[in-house]
Amino acid sequence: MKTARGHKKQGKIFVISGPSGSGKTTLLNKLTQDREISKLLIKSRSLTTRPRRCQERDGKDYFFVSPDEFSRLLKAKKILEWTRYLGYYYGTPREHVEARLKKGGHIGFCLDLKGAAILKKIYPQNTVTVFVLPPSLETLKARIEGRSKSTDKKEVAQRLKLAARELSAAPGFDYCILNNNLQVALKELKEIILTHIGS
Ligand code: ADP
Repeated sequence: MKTARGHKKQGKIFVISGPSGSGKTTLLNKLTQDREISKLLIKSRSLTTRPRRCQERDGKDYFFVSPDEFSRLLKAKKILEWTRYLGYYYGTPREHVEARLKKGGHIGFCLDLKGAAILKKIYPQNTVTVFVLPPSLETLKARIEGRSKSTDKKEVAQRLKLAARELSAAPGFDYCILNNNLQVALKELKEIILTHIGS
């Protein structure tokens, strides 16, 4: 789309954030499978040094890289934002984002709170942040345990401890959505995206 001055309008960034297990990945995956949204929004793929879970695919869910490769990309300034979570590194490849935005394309991200704040700071005009709230900490625990049998008890406890702290960040986001019923949450997210893309 072009602006009145003939410049190409930059794309928008939608950051879906919230505690681990709140449903960010599920919501963004479902959203990008939606007929209407899939024409407008692509899902950003992060780099990670975390081992692949059995249902995940390299290049689709994440780019799985070694710690050495991650550190090389970081030094070469090819990573826009990154974080270390429970001993593994996660990062956003810079070129992938900048090329898409320049073309006026929109991107959806699943990021932790720090990543959401960094993108908002780098692209304040284009970034819309959404916090996904779990219905309760008990539900969150059940979802984390149900997601992967390989997540051990200690890791579940670590994720829950972090989650309880992270919930207090919700008011700083542009939007908060409650992920109780998935279809309802998905509908709300879709409305937020269409409102901003249409504007
Ligand atoms: P996150 O990306 O925030 O860590 P996930 O998207 O991996 O969370 O969701 C955690 C688990 O909870 C997954 O197994 C997912 O299928 C499940 N889940 C997500 N949203 C809902 C929901 N509304 N109702 C029931 N289960 C859900």
